[in-house]
Amino acid sequence: MAARKPSTTRKTTKQQPCPHCTTGQVSESFKVGGRRKHQSDDRQEALCLTCFGTGQTPE
Ligand SMILES: [Zn+2]
Repeated sequence: MAARKPSTTRKTTKQQPCPHCTTGQVSESFKVGGRRKHQSDDRQEALCLTCFGTGQTPE
């Protein structure tokens, strides 16, 4: 009678997706025009500083 070994519950380091982005990049609006704080409709892709471009939360 072989006792079944319970599958060792491995603590999988499941990476959580970054709450601030999805692909490690965030599109942020940037201001154009020196004096006039004109908000451009254009967006530029910027590296997400929360996950450093990995798309997952660190740790
Ligand atoms: Zn991120």
